[in-house]
Amino acid sequence: MNTVSRALHADLVSVIGDGNVHDAGLLGGRDPGFHPDNLSADLAVYPGNTAEVAAVVGLCARHDIPIVPQGGLTGLSGGAASKPENLIVGLRRMNRIEALDAAAATVIVEAGATLQSVEEVANRHGLSVGIDIGARGSATIGGMIATNAGGMEAFRNGSMRARLLGLEVVTATGAILNDMTEVPKCNEGYDLKHLFCGAEGTLGIITRAVLSLKPMTASNTTLMIAVDDAKAALAITRSAMMLPGLEVLQAEIMWRNYAHTVAAEIGLSQVFDFADAPAYLLLELNGDENALEPLFVHEAIRDAIMARNERERAAFWRIREESFIVDRVVPNCRWYDISVPLGRIDETVRGIEARLKALDPDMGIWVMGHLADGNLHYTIGNGQPVAEAHQAVIADAVYGGLKANGSAFSAEHGIGTEKRGSLAKHTNPEKLRLMHAIKQALDPQGIMNPGKVL
Ligand SMILES: Cc1cc2nc3c(=O)[nH]c(=O)nc-3n(C[C@H](O)[C@H](O)[C@H](O)COP(=O)(O)OP(=O)(O)OC[C@H]3O[C@@H](n4cnc5c(N)ncnc54)[C@H](O)[C@@H]3O)c2cc1C
Repeated sequence: MNTVSRALHADLVSVIGDGNVHDAGLLGGRDPGFHPDNLSADLAVYPGNTAEVAAVVGLCARHDIPIVPQGGLTGLSGGAASKPENLIVGLRRMNRIEALDAAAATVIVEAGATLQSVEEVANRHGLSVGIDIGARGSATIGGMIATNAGGMEAFRNGSMRARLLGLEVVTATGAILNDMTEVPKCNEGYDLKHLFCGAEGTLGIITRAVLSLKPMTASNTTLMIAVDDAKAALAITRSAMMLPGLEVLQAEIMWRNYAHTVAAEIGLSQVFDFADAPAYLLLELNGDENALEPLFVHEAIRDAIMARNERERAAFWRIREESFIVDRVVPNCRWYDISVPLGRIDETVRGIEARLKALDPDMGIWVMGHLADGNLHYTIGNGQPVAEAHQAVIADAVYGGLKANGSAFSAEHGIGTEKRGSLAKHTNPEKLRLMHAIKQALDPQGIMNPGKVL
């Protein structure tokens, strides 16, 4: 334990109790989640309520200690990574679902509740959070708000920001900002809650939230459709959206290299025995047979299979969701998360491939994503570790031209530590200046998750 930690330790114990202050010894024996440095801090605290979070932040402000807020540690951009001199403030004990109003379709939750736990409670009332991500069992509502998580239902329900009615945040001085409105219409000056949504813990610690719920949906048809490209996949998806009596619940795309690599690695290659195609569309639908019939004859379908039971459905989804398997096949890969206007997906995919292959003809490229909102996830690598200087060259090859065609170089995983350089490079200078001004105004000491985003 370093000197600063020793000075702070006794104060923290008096605020939240010995058992909730963990030192490096305890942290070192724990799974760090999706970034190796998530638990590299010398100290972590796990408060039990908002008042304790406020007291902890107040102490940190007084001692000038940098704080790293943490939820489920499933973030993919290094936003929760910590250094020995940081204090981790983990929200996992604050996991209560305080109240659900079924008539109003709202739920009040503490920030450490996992998506799955809130979804299960909502489902009992015929409702849903309206957001689904692969990390649902561990990702917390606080972390999802902090990263403005998107996922597979964002094309119809929006990202986390659209689900948010009210928010409670402990600001960098240890004050409590209570903006827990439960109504969709609230024009009471600047809508500050949206500043904290997507700020990745750099402006304050989210402690509670009011979420707007959606009616629960049930899928009765899962299709794996072989297609030529994203244009074809979109044409099929759009037709399905327009067909009376048919609801498109999820529309995901996987390009051939991704689909075949993951399927082979997890022993599901037989799924693609029906067609060897440049890309595959995974559609989750709700509708009766009559509604589905016109879709089956869509000209853009090369071939298609329907899951005949839950086991087959799960197999389709494992191929889509187990994207981290690629790293097992080819180590040292890097991940990218971009968003592209729907009509420009194919040209963007071709452009990125050409730029990467020009850098290195042996570069492996695996692409899949949330088709219906144009969010593509790239895994890129040739098996060799990538030197830091070269990482920027690869990032430029992926991001080149994106801004000019209306795309976003960072879609749903956040900036964290990994995309800070790219944010500085690809963001409008005035936007960047305003972001720095907001950070300075809300956290003048710079203690909230320093070294992330900006
Ligand atoms: C298998 C898998 C699938 C995924 N799929 C998707 C997907 O489809 N869509 C998507 O958007 N993301 C996805 N993710 C990424 C990840 O799940 C999300 O970013 C999620 O929102 C992170 O939540 P968390 O609780 O794990 O946050 P953490 O990883 O703990 O933290 C993430 C960031 O939020 C900050 N933070 C956490 N809690 C708080 C808080 N209470 N107050 C302030 N700041 C806080 C942290 O400081 C950090 O900057 C996936 C991840 C995995 C591993």
